[in-house]
Amino acid sequence: MSNGAYARRGHLARVVAAVILMVTLLGLPSGCGALAVGPATAEPPPSGALVLSFIDVGQGGSTLVQSGGESFLIDAGRPEEGPEVVDFLRSRGVEELDGLVVTHPDADHIGGVPEVLGAMPVQEVYVSDRSPGGSLEAAFLEAVEEEEAELTEVGAGDELVWGASEITVLSPPEGGFSEDNDNSVATLIEHGPDPETGRVLLTGDAEARAEEYMSQGPETGPLAVLKVGHHGSSTSTTPLFLSRFRPQVAVISVGEDNGYGHPTPQTLRRLRTVGSEVFRTDEQGDVIVTLHEGELEVAVSGDG
Ligand SMILES: [Zn+2]
Repeated sequence: MSNGAYARRGHLARVVAAVILMVTLLGLPSGCGALAVGPATAEPPPSGALVLSFIDVGQGGSTLVQSGGESFLIDAGRPEEGPEVVDFLRSRGVEELDGLVVTHPDADHIGGVPEVLGAMPVQEVYVSDRSPGGSLEAAFLEAVEEEEAELTEVGAGDELVWGASEITVLSPPEGGFSEDNDNSVATLIEHGPDPETGRVLLTGDAEARAEEYMSQGPETGPLAVLKVGHHGSSTSTTPLFLSRFRPQVAVISVGEDNGYGHPTPQTLRRLRTVGSEVFRTDEQGDVIVTLHEGELEVAVSGDG
């Protein structure tokens, strides 16, 4: 048996061996239905659901988006996390990706991408049209070329269809920003007929300037789920941004005992102030959110 098979089995065991924690929160401000928190399982997504898996990749980011039978990946963590991301995808029954978004070329987001591209077919790769490039760009471009995936640059206002969900890119705008993090691809996912219960925003490492731009744009409104920008750094998740987007659930992708102090007490306080339910990959492992018929369910692999 190969090491890969052991690793896959190990990961599956970690996902299944989760602590049962059932919480029902009614009357939440965003108007979402009940929020149930339970254990992560490797069940395929229910038909008609939007499933977001915030994969525990330590200090970095990687999110699997499953909708209408299609699978998309947003970032793949650091280079050493690539195999873990591939194992996670396979544990969820994903053997190919319809698309892969690189929010920005920092190592903790693009690092694992070549591994994913080498491991399974990927139809299309989306990058920020303001990507400044980085030390891993050569390995990344080589992997894209080898995979023969289509490389598409996206920016604010671009619209895509992912399975049964509609995607609007909220940032970066034309001209971009002076800080690399602010040029992250920010993806708004809309799912289901009710705009109050089906909106999800993932902003990569976007910080205050990009958040200000999105806060003044046409797509503000309550979110069912926010992937908290830049691992919970105090330079993201500004009060203005939170007041415009009001997330019911906030997921922070962050490494245990990271040297950056992420997430910062300020960010956690701001999220508490707007009533967001916070989930963290450093404490809870993989965080899997299912949006289905106006209901929101969160499953975690860890016991934190
Ligand atoms: Zn990052």
